[in-house]
Amino acid sequence: MIGAVSDLTDTSIGRYVDGVLSGDRTVLAQTITLLESSNLDHRRRAELVLQELLPETGAARRVGITGVPGVGKSTFIDQLGINLTAAGHRVAVLAVDPSSSRSGGSILGDKTRMSRLAVDPDAFIRPSPAGRTLGGVTRSTRETILVCEAAGFDVVLVETVGVGQSETVVADMVDFFLVLMLAGAGDDLQGIKKGVLELADMVAVNKADGDNVTRAGLAAADYRSALHLMSPASPTWDPPVLTCSALDNSGLDELWEQVEVHRRKMDATGELDARRADQQVRWMWSMLEERLRDDLRALPGVTARLADLERSVRGGELPATLAVDELWDRYVSERSSG
Ligand code: GDP
Repeated sequence: MIGAVSDLTDTSIGRYVDGVLSGDRTVLAQTITLLESSNLDHRRRAELVLQELLPETGAARRVGITGVPGVGKSTFIDQLGINLTAAGHRVAVLAVDPSSSRSGGSILGDKTRMSRLAVDPDAFIRPSPAGRTLGGVTRSTRETILVCEAAGFDVVLVETVGVGQSETVVADMVDFFLVLMLAGAGDDLQGIKKGVLELADMVAVNKADGDNVTRAGLAAADYRSALHLMSPASPTWDPPVLTCSALDNSGLDELWEQVEVHRRKMDATGELDARRADQQVRWMWSMLEERLRDDLRALPGVTARLADLERSVRGGELPATLAVDELWDRYVSERSSG
């Protein structure tokens, strides 16, 4: 992988731009590899490519999909994906998997999990980059969405799993956030993180097949009442609750129709543009905060005191405000003297 990237450094920006725009999958993959690179020079080149591509971005349906391991995400995305390509769409599947930064291996976006889509010429699957922090994965995935759009993919599915902040960050990079659920044995609403329902633009109770159909229907009713108790994020959209079976390919067309209905509504009200604009601004702030924090932690005068101050705050001997005052003074003086 590293060799592949360094081989690319001599290639001109124009080659990437032309390759992506013409839908060349090899160049698309190479461009994403550049975006994911930890080498600053690669990243700068990738940013230049991205800047050229920007006018060609924005047209896709950006859909986030989450659910616990075993809920059926890969089976679902495989089936939905081939339904969509059969209907003439071009589908990109990306993954945000923070566990890959710890384990070094990604459980999401693995092509073998989506065997039919993996060999579909109208689909492109990209696993979560390994060895990255959530911040790093978030940045490259956001940019990969844009590159895929420029390459002509009109549907971008971003898969994630309910680990830490990953659901929140994915919901904040898509137009539509789908939460897959399972029907449990009478305890459907137990153990659900309320937070994930607040992010949902739709809930689908999956595996509604065989003798599970009735239970799935009951679970859907439970989710409907739970959602009614929450204030909707959009004044024009009540998140629907559906049942589906990826195994039987049932309910998936109805589900996608809701994505389209949502899109038409959000386009008409201007909410889509507003949502994307808000996402960009939040993203700007999150990158800025990350950079400031890294900068602060890189200064020796600050790091020398960090552990002590943290211990004193933890022990209740020092108010957090005073610790911040001292760190901030050290930061400002070290920055201005450097
Ligand atoms: P993931 O971990 O969320 O990606 O889940 P998988 O797609 O790997 O599915 C987990 C298990 O559930 C596998 O054994 C699948 O065969 C099964 N499964 C997936 N979708 C369905 C479905 O719609 N109905 C039924 N009955 N089983 C399913």
